[in-house]
Amino acid sequence: MKIQTKIALIFTILTSGIIVALSVFIYTFGSESVSNSFYHRLEVRADIIGHAALQKSKSTTSIYYDIKERHLGDLPFEQHHIIKNGEIEKAKQLKERLPMPPAFYDNIVRKEPARFFKNDTSYVGLNINQAGKTIIVLSSAVDLYGLEEIENLKKLLIVGFFISMIFVFTFGKLFSTQVFNPIRRIIRNVKGISAHNLHQRLDVAGSNDEIDDLTHTFNDMLNRLEITFEIQNNFVSNASHEFRTPLTVISGEAQLGLSVEGMPAAAKSSFEVIYKEAGKLEHLANSMLKLAQTGFDGTKEQWSPIRVDELVLSVKEAVDKIIPDNRVEIDFNHLPEDEAKLTINGNQTLLTAALSNIVLNSCKYSDNKPVNIIISSDETHSIVEIEDFGIGIPDREIAQIYVPFFRASNTERYKGFGIGLPLANNIVKKHNGTIAVDSQVGAGTSFKIFLPHSKAAF
Ligand code: ADP
Repeated sequence: MKIQTKIALIFTILTSGIIVALSVFIYTFGSESVSNSFYHRLEVRADIIGHAALQKSKSTTSIYYDIKERHLGDLPFEQHHIIKNGEIEKAKQLKERLPMPPAFYDNIVRKEPARFFKNDTSYVGLNINQAGKTIIVLSSAVDLYGLEEIENLKKLLIVGFFISMIFVFTFGKLFSTQVFNPIRRIIRNVKGISAHNLHQRLDVAGSNDEIDDLTHTFNDMLNRLEITFEIQNNFVSNASHEFRTPLTVISGEAQLGLSVEGMPAAAKSSFEVIYKEAGKLEHLANSMLKLAQTGFDGTKEQWSPIRVDELVLSVKEAVDKIIPDNRVEIDFNHLPEDEAKLTINGNQTLLTAALSNIVLNSCKYSDNKPVNIIISSDETHSIVEIEDFGIGIPDREIAQIYVPFFRASNTERYKGFGIGLPLANNIVKKHNGTIAVDSQVGAGTSFKIFLPHSKAAF
């Protein structure tokens, strides 16, 4: 999940926590105050009824009822039960009929507030003494208005909660988008910088904040990288250049030696070894030079239409020169009928170097077992698949095979420098192509090179 969404979510969760807590507080406080006021109104009525029942004369009793009737009125479903001294049977029956718990009656005896609520009905109990007489009044009523008010409050809080959540999430998202805009700009700029345009720098917004610091830090790092790249590149290209001339001389001399008639067998085999090893070194020096050229702003190569089958034949020729006893087979059975699907636009020398590095690896890492090159195409690409039955590449190391100088952990037995695949990858990328690898340790490896064919361009 993106940090931006995370911030909006955390913001929403925190705010929703606060709103829920506030809503619970408002709801509890509101319903408590509504029910307390209703209990109070019921208790006042119970008190009047109780005192009316304690009066000796009927006229005084009716005064109490009159006052209640005139000034207080009846509550919905209002009911009163009076228990006088000694009415044990009546008290028992009421206790069974009414839902109040024993604690309610204990409170009445102790003259403490006795209140109870069940099934929307509020119950109160009073213990009234007057002139030595004691009676107990049990009263109940339903607070229709109050219950409706509480219900409305609940609905209001729930609806308010969801509406505020939508607002909070939307504003959170807008806010975090705003905050991350400069970082997104930096990411866009950094993505556009590669070894090919290392001179490019990030724009400094001039806001004097952490983002500006980050931009300056990136630019400083790019300065250092550019210098290091240039030094490394110059060294690699000068060194490989310098190596090439003496190597060409060595292999020319070895060839000349081999052509001398009547040469003793031992000397001939020495010349053969010199010729073969000089060829390998020449290939290495050329690869290093090309890696330096393709990895950095190097030469402008000549591009022309190339037939992939011819390209593969020139690769085979290059491989034959270095490993004369190779067992590379070219499979032409899957050639597309449409010639345009077989023609790509590119640089023949670079592509030959790229593919021959991959084929040479296949021969090397399979101890010269058979290697198949299959040429085919799909709607957009010409495909060259190079398949071997060698040692394979460990799963967790596959991602690193294009890193210059990387060598997998199972290659101790084999000589190499780790520059063949990075070079091949650079060259294929320059041709807007891709390489797909499928490998299994102990079973073999398949490299599929996809190069956009000219048909796709039309
Ligand atoms: P190297 O000179 O080591 O062959 P490369 O750059 O050509 O360097 O290859 C990088 C690494 O990729 C090799 O060291 C090897 O571990 C792995 N690799 C490449 N091709 C194969 C293959 N056909 N079979 C097994 N491993 C391979």
